[in-house]
Amino acid sequence: MATIEHGVETGVSFALTDEQRSLRELAREFAAKEIRPKAAEYDEHQTHPADLVAKAHELGLMNLHVPESLGGLGLSTFEGILVGEELNWGCSGIGTSIGANGLGAGPVIIAGSEEQQAEWLPPLLEEPLLCSFGLSEPEAGSDVVKLKTTAQRRGDEYILNGSKTFITNAGHAAWTVIFAKTDPDKGHKGISAFIVPMDTPGVELEEHLDKMGQRSTDTSAFALTDVVVPVANRIGEEGEGFKIAMQTLDFTRPGTAAGAVGVAQAAFEYAVEYAKERVTFDVPIAMHQGVNFMIADMATEIEAARLL
Ligand SMILES: Cc1cc2nc3c(=O)[nH]c(=O)nc-3n(C[C@H](O)[C@H](O)[C@H](O)COP(=O)(O)OP(=O)(O)OC[C@H]3O[C@@H](n4cnc5c(N)ncnc54)[C@H](O)[C@@H]3O)c2cc1C
Repeated sequence: MATIEHGVETGVSFALTDEQRSLRELAREFAAKEIRPKAAEYDEHQTHPADLVAKAHELGLMNLHVPESLGGLGLSTFEGILVGEELNWGCSGIGTSIGANGLGAGPVIIAGSEEQQAEWLPPLLEEPLLCSFGLSEPEAGSDVVKLKTTAQRRGDEYILNGSKTFITNAGHAAWTVIFAKTDPDKGHKGISAFIVPMDTPGVELEEHLDKMGQRSTDTSAFALTDVVVPVANRIGEEGEGFKIAMQTLDFTRPGTAAGAVGVAQAAFEYAVEYAKERVTFDVPIAMHQGVNFMIADMATEIEAARLL
């Protein structure tokens, strides 16, 4: 059977390169040795995994897409997916905290000027700084064009007002890319993107949101009140924010899907382990055909999802 592990003799090969395999093994080892032992406790207490973020940073498991010209690894979405699946196999909350710089820095990598990239990306490599992606609002999730945050130009500055919610790592981020309306009458063409340091006066963290799952990743809400942002922090031209947001999501959402595959793989492994251990009618339940069917279906669906 052709899997992502084994290439096929003819046709399309899904074989990984040696580098990709090493990267995936590094992520799996980190997930097994560092993430898993802390996953339950951090999840229960909604602990932001700063210690694990720092360790992942040291190992080179963060900021994978920062260009080589700036000292990064310049890896593709695919390598990000390989790492993301393994980290989320360890714990999807902790994995999300570690991986979210890809989303936060995405707009700068995709559409930032050379000056912006040189200013904002190298510090992410130097120390375990976090950055966030500030798109969602209380009344604008899937339908992001409904966002209400505004950015009014005043000379060489913009004044931002509004609020953001569900923003990963925002409570611990050094900076966030904020999407705001520069021209509310122009729909998706009236949205622009700005790099906003989170210690700018007027940025006020409102809440670390309580969640049912992924509890160890910080998902925060914050308000923006007369936040002054220099024009130099606008990414791209006015009106390009929606396009930049969608390009960033195109680049990073496959990683979110791969994270779900990691969670499914972990659930599968726990199920197999339990099925071998639990005895009914004098045999492990894995010996009952009905249980086997379910395990086989899980394995099939996970492999199919991974190959997507
Ligand atoms: C853990 C977590 C982390 C997040 N991190 C970030 C982040 O870092 N930055 C950020 O900006 N946002 C973030 N978000 C927000 C996320 O992007 C939004 O939750 C998402 O866009 C959906 O928006 P919503 O929750 O408002 O749902 P809604 O848009 O209100 O949707 C509600 C339901 O309706 C369905 N629906 C909506 N429109 C349609 C349609 N046209 N057809 C059919 N069904 C539809 C949706 O699928 C969903 O099931 C995060 C969310 C979570 C849960």
